[in-house]
Amino acid sequence: MDAGSGIGMLENNNEEQLIQLQHIGKHYRLADKTLHILDDVCLRIAHGESCAILGSSGSGKSTLLNVLGLLDLPDTGNYRLNGIDVAQASPDQLAALRNQLIGFVFQSFNLLPRLSALDNVALPLTYRGIAPGQAREQAHAMLARVGLGERSEHRPASLSGGQRQRVAIARALVGKPALILADEPTGNLDASTAQEIMALLIELNREQSVTLIVVTHDPLIASQLARRVEVHQGLLREAGAA
Ligand code: ADP
Ligand code: MG
Repeated sequence: MDAGSGIGMLENNNEEQLIQLQHIGKHYRLADKTLHILDDVCLRIAHGESCAILGSSGSGKSTLLNVLGLLDLPDTGNYRLNGIDVAQASPDQLAALRNQLIGFVFQSFNLLPRLSALDNVALPLTYRGIAPGQAREQAHAMLARVGLGERSEHRPASLSGGQRQRVAIARALVGKPALILADEPTGNLDASTAQEIMALLIELNREQSVTLIVVTHDPLIASQLARRVEVHQGLLREAGAA
């Protein structure tokens, strides 16, 4: 992976807004039908903000998160991330932007089963070309920050669900991204572990001034973030206080 091709683009970061979505549309074509999942989505998120994306199952939350995370491009509209128009970026530049600016946290953790916790966390740094010794050192510090300093040599299978999600959070944050995108991060956890994971994400949002966006269908989870928006019938609306 060539991380270097995105560096020049990253310097264009003197914008107040980290995220600016204007009139975003995303549709899927199935046989003879077109499904309009996102119709006209507008959203601005400032650096350091925390925001929940709510919506019923199938409303398009993950579709929106995939657009925000540069995993999928919108069909219509304009997306500026950190001042960069993503439609102008090459696939290599998009990959570099993802690696440098964004940390992902998924419902099913998405850790590599054959790697230790430490090596899972070090992976984004390795992709950047950071030397293995230095990558492991930074990964260890990040694992310690999420409370797993003693478990770094464990593989995912010998960790609990909550511990696996902590490893995934460490992996998301180790590269000091501007943005954490979490898609139902507590969906596979019991209520008290879910609460611990949310508390950790919110602490890290404040402490590392990383912007935090959490997709959830759970109003209780959403109520812990500073702002809530809801996907509904292809549009996004401010959801107000929980
Ligand atoms: P949510 O995360 O809110 O549950 P999604 O964003 O995953 O919803 O999906 C929104 C809608 O788009 C669903 O109806 C889903 O079936 C459809 N969808 C998602 N991805 C695809 C795809 N690759 N092809 C066709 N339809 C899709
Ligand atoms: Mg989803």
